[in-house]
Amino acid sequence: DKNVEIQRALTEEMNKLKQELSNARREAAIDSLTGLFNRRAFDRRLDELIERANGLDDSFCLLLLDIDFFKRINDSYGHMVGDKVLSEFGKQIGRLTRRSDFLARYGGEEFAILLPQTRITAAFTVAENVRGTLERVRLRRSQSGESLEAITVSVGVACYRIDEDREAFIARCDKALYRAKELGRNRTVLAD
Ligand code: GH3
Ligand code: MG
Ligand code: MG
Repeated sequence: DKNVEIQRALTEEMNKLKQELSNARREAAIDSLTGLFNRRAFDRRLDELIERANGLDDSFCLLLLDIDFFKRINDSYGHMVGDKVLSEFGKQIGRLTRRSDFLARYGGEEFAILLPQTRITAAFTVAENVRGTLERVRLRRSQSGESLEAITVSVGVACYRIDEDREAFIARCDKALYRAKELGRNRTVLAD
């Protein structure tokens, strides 16, 4: 009868809206160039992990990756090639990490990887695996088929210390990354 009909129409409409809301939420958390999470989603996930670590004594590690001399890539080949490097690197990072890891584009040519329930030695291994793999990626320019030179990343690794505040934690990791740059790039440095 009519009431059943109306009920069904409302349910259908509600499900559609729920689906749309969930799509919009997902889109708001994703970086469209790389398909990785964006900075906003990263900040939220980091807060969750910190809260969990402090409550359960269950630590995690952070990797900050920054592409070496990326400005040069843009200058030599153009912004579109630079964008292709970013999306390819995003794809490779996804391939080399676990589903439970959290991958984000942290800034322009920077990536952040959160490794839950991971100790520093394992985090270092992941970092070196990613770094070594990215170094071997050879992108080809579509028109000429010409291969680009090796593009490398520098990596800072830090494990969260219970009760450390988030800014101090990120600064510690960032300092390790900066040190990797200073030491000549294309390397991984552990935070103190
Ligand atoms: P370093 O080894 O010290 O990291 O050198 P760098 O050239 O990578 O560092 P710098 O911070 O000077 O340059 C980063 C460059 O990344 C500048 C900017 O044009 C480029 N970049 C940032 N976001 C994007 C993007 O979305 N697409 C492209 N193609 N380039 C980007
Ligand atoms: Mg940078
Ligand atoms: Mg850079």
